[in-house]
Amino acid sequence: MNQEALEALPPMTTIIARTTTNWRRRVGALVIGAGGAGLRAAIELDAHGVDVLVVGKRARADAHTVLAAGGINAALGTMDPEDSWQIHAADTLREGRFLGDAHAVEILCREAPAAIDDLLSYGTRFARDADGRLLQRYFGAHRYRRTLFAGDYTGRALIAGLMAEVDRRGIPILERFYVSDLLQQGDGRVTGVLGFALEGGATGVIDAGVVVLATGGHIGVYGRSSSRPAENTGDGMALAYRAGAELADMELVQFHPTGMVWPDEAVGTLVTEAVRGEGGRLYNSAGERFMARYDRERLELSTRDRIALANYTEIVEGRGTPHHGVWLDISHVPAATIHERLPRMVAQYQDVGIDITRAPIEVAPTAHYAMGGIRVAVDTHWTGVPGLYAAGEAASGVHGANRLGGNSLAEIIVFGRRAGLAAANDVAETRSDDAVIAERLTALTAAAHGALEPVAGIDRLRETMWRQAGLVRDAAGLHGALDTIEELGARRDDLRIPDGAGRPAALAAAYDLTAMLVTAEATVRGALLREESRGAHVRREFPTTARHWQRTIVMRARNGRMHADTRPLPELSADVKAALRDEAPVLGGLLE
Ligand SMILES: Cc1cc2nc3c(=O)[nH]c(=O)nc-3n(C[C@H](O)[C@H](O)[C@H](O)COP(=O)(O)OP(=O)(O)OC[C@H]3O[C@@H](n4cnc5c(N)ncnc54)[C@H](O)[C@@H]3O)c2cc1C
Repeated sequence: MNQEALEALPPMTTIIARTTTNWRRRVGALVIGAGGAGLRAAIELDAHGVDVLVVGKRARADAHTVLAAGGINAALGTMDPEDSWQIHAADTLREGRFLGDAHAVEILCREAPAAIDDLLSYGTRFARDADGRLLQRYFGAHRYRRTLFAGDYTGRALIAGLMAEVDRRGIPILERFYVSDLLQQGDGRVTGVLGFALEGGATGVIDAGVVVLATGGHIGVYGRSSSRPAENTGDGMALAYRAGAELADMELVQFHPTGMVWPDEAVGTLVTEAVRGEGGRLYNSAGERFMARYDRERLELSTRDRIALANYTEIVEGRGTPHHGVWLDISHVPAATIHERLPRMVAQYQDVGIDITRAPIEVAPTAHYAMGGIRVAVDTHWTGVPGLYAAGEAASGVHGANRLGGNSLAEIIVFGRRAGLAAANDVAETRSDDAVIAERLTALTAAAHGALEPVAGIDRLRETMWRQAGLVRDAAGLHGALDTIEELGARRDDLRIPDGAGRPAALAAAYDLTAMLVTAEATVRGALLREESRGAHVRREFPTTARHWQRTIVMRARNGRMHADTRPLPELSADVKAALRDEAPVLGGLLE
């Protein structure tokens, strides 16, 4: 099903207040998000006989997951038979600096092999050797080779397999549809959504017996990020928060060490860690291979948080390149190897006139991944709001203070399935209240003749977050960021949204801004509260890790304001404790 098909439905017959939607339809379950988590949840819902619809903001097979490059983890032991789910869990918890939820991590690592079986059954094609054995490679800080891959296009391969299964099952996907509001009945149960088409702007109501949010992360709130424009704007997190859910660990944002620094339109675009995995070296402007000062043993194969901080330090201390980066050089590796192993990187730099087989490139940290998100019940991924589930990067729990490369793709499949299963058992006969729809529709369709262009508001917020709540934080900067967030929040009624062809895009930007203000505030408030440095969270005034901060920070709406609280973390199981005790040094290999 596509937009045209939905628009062809008869217009809604009930006149709601002053206005009406262009269409309305009912489904058993609605999945918001067509990335890996959303598609996997939809497959599970369909497998349990639920009539499910998936919606996404972009074209159907072009959700953010397609950007994923290097691989997906599962302790299959195809290369290293000593590997086990317990060791995978130990690596994940240790590198997350023990802020990951141990129960969630155990589920992830136990169920990742079954997730790979699912993907294989859908037709995802992972790299194999000549005998047909699935290849697994090293990623940073993993004790064994446990990352399956499809060249440096693993996300694309995942989506291709999931889409094939979705199509086999005939699950409809409504593309280019922006969900602006969750609808709730009196007792708080979610009953559906209101949204609009990004082409044409037709508004629509989807009544749903249950809703799964699989809307991705919120790192688009940063001026430099590895996502595409208007992606990862934290919509699902903000929708859930406004519906009564808690947001957890929002201050824990992963900054990838290597993003592009020029040209302007490419700033932040990921330079895959496979460049370092294949031998790339980092140098400062004095020609020094500076990683020797930060991690003498692992050098460029150290963990993401350490290399990001090293790159940042070199740049701010004046040893950066002309475009405020550091040099990444792989030109000593034979050109044929580079072409074979890093085809995407070769092409990415060819586009800007650089041959990476001959010349170094300038790179700097870029916001990459949201470790935090909607707080969910670990087993079911229920958000605590009746009728509302969340999975994937939108949810929190697994990654703690530093995500291990390859774990996100595993998470979206494992917990996408679990959220779909739990939602399938929770489909209710609800119908959205016409009065609620009318109220939200009025806001959605109201003219807006204010002074603030939504895109200008977004640019200001992103710049502020990058400068004042980025990789290294301090109280003064964070308070400054809060001031900007509050100032922009106060201008919600001062937005300018033109009529005519440009309206849907401007409206989407306005809703993006609204969501980004929620996630930015949660990030900044969490960062202020967490008076320590741990993994990706670095506080200038508190450079060490504090034992008493081994807690989750949660944000919840109370009386119209954001209220912070902390929660203890569950105990590690005996299995994982034993795996942690047995640890050999983790030197890792290829990173992602
Ligand atoms: C460049 C890059 C490389 C990466 N490489 C790896 C890797 O090798 N291994 C790994 O494990 N992880 C990797 N990651 C991380 C990983 O790709 C993501 O964390 C993961 O794909 C998130 O999947 P998801 O299903 O949760 O969300 P997404 O894929 O982000 O999908 C979100 C969906 O929600 C929709 N949506 C959002 N808001 C709305 C709204 N308001 N209305 C309607 N629809 C909405 C979007 O349109 C989209 O369809 C990488 C990330 C990047 C940026």
